[in-house]
Amino acid sequence: MIIDIVKGADNPILRKASENQGKISKKTLKLLKDMEDSMIATKGVGIAAPQVGVNLRMAHITINKDQIFTIINPEIVEMAEEIDEDTEGCLSLPGHWGPVKRAIWVKLKFTDTKGYEKIMVFEGFEARIVQHEVDHLNGKLFVDHVPEGKLQIEG
Ligand SMILES: [Zn+2]
Repeated sequence: MIIDIVKGADNPILRKASENQGKISKKTLKLLKDMEDSMIATKGVGIAAPQVGVNLRMAHITINKDQIFTIINPEIVEMAEEIDEDTEGCLSLPGHWGPVKRAIWVKLKFTDTKGYEKIMVFEGFEARIVQHEVDHLNGKLFVDHVPEGKLQIEG
C-alpha cells in the first residue's frame, strides 16, 4: 500500500529519534512492504520508516542499481575517514537539493528481515544512501549538512 510521504524540514515525526524495532512480526513485514511500495511510487533510492509516519529504526536502500535492501536497527560501526561531496535530495523535502559530504564507505551492523544480525560494508552511492537513512532514524535531514547558502529550492 502506498502511503503519503511525511514532509517538511520541521515535521516532528521527521525530527524525532526513532525507537529500535523489536521482534519482526507480520505487522513489521506489512510496514516494510508499504515502505517499499511508497519508495517505488515516488522513485526514491531509499526510504526510512519515519517518512511513512512510523518512528521505528527501519529503512530500505537501493543496492546493485535496482535492488531494494532492508536494514533494521542499522548502526554504523565504522566509517571511512575519506569523504566525498555529492548532491542529495529527499522524498520528504521535494524540490530541495544540496551538496552533502559523506564518508566514502561505512561498515553497517543491522538485522535482516528474517531477524539475523549482519555486518556489511557499503561503498560509494550505497554508503551515501545508508548515511542518509540512518540520519532519518536519528531525526536528522540532509539539509542539516548543506552549507549555508548552498541549498537549492525548486518549484
Ligand atoms: Zn531522505
